[in-house]
Amino acid sequence: MNDDWEGPNEEDIEWTKSMFEQIEIGGVWAPIHSGVEYTKTGEKEMSLTRLMNHPSAGAIHARILETIEKTDWTMKEDQAQLVTPPLDPVAAIHERKEREQEIAENWQCPTSDCEELLRNMDLAQGIWSYEGMQQALTDDGEIVDTERWSVRVNCHECGAAIALEPYDYTILGGDELSWTWGPYQVMERDAIIDAIDHGDQVLILGTELEEERVPPHMRGLVVHMPLNMEEE
Ligand SMILES: [Zn+2]
Repeated sequence: MNDDWEGPNEEDIEWTKSMFEQIEIGGVWAPIHSGVEYTKTGEKEMSLTRLMNHPSAGAIHARILETIEKTDWTMKEDQAQLVTPPLDPVAAIHERKEREQEIAENWQCPTSDCEELLRNMDLAQGIWSYEGMQQALTDDGEIVDTERWSVRVNCHECGAAIALEPYDYTILGGDELSWTWGPYQVMERDAIIDAIDHGDQVLILGTELEEERVPPHMRGLVVHMPLNMEEE
């Protein structure tokens, strides 16, 4: 995290407000990997519901509080549950992911009068779309150019075309969907060895495949050769 934060600027304030406005009352806002969780408890009221017992979570909450003070929103803190993460980092990551999945279970279609849950949509048909380059801030405070992607999913109830953040899609879809791109599924090491031993063809993904851009998390990985591409 960047430590020379000088308080919220206009952009931070607007972003935070628009974030809160999008949430329905009773809905949860839990920024990725932040260790903080808020529930919308009123028209202009958020409540801190979970706080990780970790200095960085405390610092993030302090910033959000400082930002909220510059708006017409209020923050309640009396319901907050202090959660101590497991000491083992692997267990801590696992626990965080489980919690993120619990929250994602309740995500609804963004159409205001449609209550279909995102998890019930046909996530396997999600289409990875490259949205161009964007600038991002690294943990060291450096600005870097990164690719921006979304995963397009359709609501079967209202027909809305929904663009999900890739991370949100992987949380909703689980490991299997995360490691699948169209017909290509990432192979585990044993499966690769087995395929090579039997003379089966495998494919290693680069940046592009048949003039299509490969999602960054799939690059450099070994995938099954789809049946229709063999013997070409
Ligand atoms: Zn819908």
